[in-house]
Amino acid sequence: MDNDADAESDVCARCAKTSGTCCTLTPGQEEYCFPLSASERAGMESAGANAAHFFLQPNTDPFVDNLCRLFPGETGTIRELFPSGGAHDRLAISPEGVCMLLGQQGCFLPRAARPLYCRLFPFWIRTGRELYFEMDRCQAQKESGGGGAGLLLRMRMTSAGVRTMYHELRKAWGLPEQA
Ligand code: SF4
Ligand code: SF4
Repeated sequence: MDNDADAESDVCARCAKTSGTCCTLTPGQEEYCFPLSASERAGMESAGANAAHFFLQPNTDPFVDNLCRLFPGETGTIRELFPSGGAHDRLAISPEGVCMLLGQQGCFLPRAARPLYCRLFPFWIRTGRELYFEMDRCQAQKESGGGGAGLLLRMRMTSAGVRTMYHELRKAWGLPEQA
């Protein structure tokens, strides 16, 4: 099955009702939230997001260090893209740690207009290899018993689609193309 970028995965809707989704974080961890590029913000705004859904986050050392862990071997590029003293857009998060775009049925935005990191989660590519971030409350991981083909199926993704979206994210965030 091909990625269907506009199709909502029903497992994420179930997750919104039962598990709290990946759209929440522990209060105090907001600075670690992934960055939003100008193109991602524009896409979100054209789908109904407004200024209240964004927050201008300073490029703190913990944020940059975390990004460097996500992109091993690319520390120099990351530090150029997110220089000390600068700032980047991220999602606005409630005092309880919930993304302001999350509703009872899941994200208010259509899937195609969501941040690329949200669309890719829980998958990632590190040093050329597909992996997934383990999360206890991820309904898709609970139902698939972990990763592999079962997780891809529940997320309506394919390995090729994960790579395509990862490269789209790199491009949006300003990272150079990889072979
Ligand atoms: S933008 Fe949507 S998918 Fe992304 S964290 Fe917020 S509610 Fe979740
Ligand atoms: S990716 Fe996992 S944690 Fe995130 S909403 Fe979907 S099922 Fe829940």
